[in-house]
Amino acid sequence: MIAGMDSNGVSKTALIPPMNETMFEIESSLNHYLQRTFKFMILNSIPGSNSIYNNLVKDGYFHLAGRSYKIFSKPDNTLVADALIQHPSRFLGWIAINPLEPHSLDELETYIDCPGFIGVKVHPFMHDYSIKELDQIADVCQSRGKPMLIHLSSERDSFKYLPIKFPKLKVIYAHAGVPFWRELWKFAKNQPSIFVDTSSDYINPSIVKKTVQALGFRKVLYGCDGPYGMSKFNEYDYSLKKKWIEDLIIPNYQKDLILGGNFLEMIE
Ligand SMILES: [Zn+2]
Repeated sequence: MIAGMDSNGVSKTALIPPMNETMFEIESSLNHYLQRTFKFMILNSIPGSNSIYNNLVKDGYFHLAGRSYKIFSKPDNTLVADALIQHPSRFLGWIAINPLEPHSLDELETYIDCPGFIGVKVHPFMHDYSIKELDQIADVCQSRGKPMLIHLSSERDSFKYLPIKFPKLKVIYAHAGVPFWRELWKFAKNQPSIFVDTSSDYINPSIVKKTVQALGFRKVLYGCDGPYGMSKFNEYDYSLKKKWIEDLIIPNYQKDLILGGNFLEMIE
């Protein structure tokens, strides 16, 4: 992983404990077509897009392109803690918390003040819960000044809930705010504490461009939640998703903020 970072000019990255078995999709034109259709439907709020999204997660498994990947209901934070000890100059870490697990607040307290851990990652979509389950975690994060990285479920208006209840909480919505996109951007535009990230195959260059146009370069962060592709199993490649930012037609200083400056400011 460090070699991949070096070859793409990534000096430091914030790790997240795995939420599921390693996903690997074989490239195929059918997959491309299905993904394009899915994105188009979400972007344009076409009825049925939510049910396609919801069907990705069922019975503790993530289902994609005919394959199923087990979801880990209690992500293993020790993996990231160990990596931070081994490579403190290259890695930061997100604490992954599932509020439905017993002792989740104790788990949060175990790591929140450890050097290198910069915030909390939560997954209402894969872990299948209402945004309201995050009240206590959000309260801790707000009072400690730690951001929350949230991969939203399709729960209606869930993107409004925490920013309204915890106005000083810094929130990053993963994958440009999937599955809400335009609706979320409209809301986030005037909310100083909401940011979005531009990672993973949930999005593509066109959605990245629309995100930056809608929110401006100060609210967009490259790659919090999977800023890579994978052309071989378990080999992560930053080049493609990073290029999505590099290819934007905006001044270089704005790209630098998206690629790291905004994030550094947030975690200071
Ligand atoms: Zn995600």
